[in-house]
Amino acid sequence: MGSDPNTLQEAVLFFQSPDNCREYLAARRWPNGVTCPRCGSDKVAFLAKYNRWQCSVTHAARQFTSKTGTIFEDSPISLDKWLLAMWQVVNCKNGVSSYEIAKATGVTQKTAWFMDHRIRLALGIEPSDKFTGHVEADETFIGGKARNMHVAKKQRRITGTGTKDKTAVMGVLERGKDGTSKVRTSVIPNRKKTAIQAEVREHVEAGSALYTDFLLSYEGLAGEFAHRVVDHAVEYVRDKVVHTNGLENYWSLLKRTIAGTYVSVEPFHLFRYLDEQAYRFNNRKLTDGERFSAAVAGVVGKRVTFDELTGKTNAQA
Ligand SMILES: [Zn+2]
Repeated sequence: MGSDPNTLQEAVLFFQSPDNCREYLAARRWPNGVTCPRCGSDKVAFLAKYNRWQCSVTHAARQFTSKTGTIFEDSPISLDKWLLAMWQVVNCKNGVSSYEIAKATGVTQKTAWFMDHRIRLALGIEPSDKFTGHVEADETFIGGKARNMHVAKKQRRITGTGTKDKTAVMGVLERGKDGTSKVRTSVIPNRKKTAIQAEVREHVEAGSALYTDFLLSYEGLAGEFAHRVVDHAVEYVRDKVVHTNGLENYWSLLKRTIAGTYVSVEPFHLFRYLDEQAYRFNNRKLTDGERFSAAVAGVVGKRVTFDELTGKTNAQA
């Protein structure tokens, strides 16, 4: 097998080979050698004829593939299509629509939509460490047809606590030393104190320097954080460090992406789009090949069914 792909063209050629697909995935989910996903035994034999492994321990369902137990499991879609779709999702700077995935992989748009959402789930890996050092916090609203809205109504939506067609989104950004800042975003029920402060505490280490704008919802955090406020009615930067410009820039990037790539984002699915965009932003220093490799490593053990995606069950993440 050739070396790992680093461009879309290389990926297309590389993943044409089922052996390459299997080995690429196996190397990332089993870096220390293949083990049985059901019992963990490393006494497994590869059955080349069936392109699968068999566990030598006696239990039900002894045979498995590199897809077993991953977001790709139970899918009739071949790994080459999965991996190409995933390449597009993690490496297309402005996001990719299910239409584009369908076109590139030769599946129906409905199938592409499903693949896209499974992939987004894999990218929403919860980071374990809280942000520290210099951290910005800010909120914004996503969705709705603000452009076609009456001015008074628009004003209310922008300053209010969220409405049915606008979703409140909270972000925190850790400033990096040489432009390596990272973001985390989440959907919040409203911009009230309880919701906003819960997000801050969940994602920011106590004692960090916290920069926000002048919103009453942030009041009372000064005991836990070195909280400094910039009043946007007066100025945008205070004492050089007190600003939320990192997040402001991120919001405009996020909104351009959503407006330019996705026809509409259902509020129910918004958190997945947010995770995908944050993933690309936080890994922007990697090469396309490295970013893709890291994403593939994240797919193990993540599964989501069609019913969960369409809201037919209450299993929303
Ligand atoms: Zn086993």
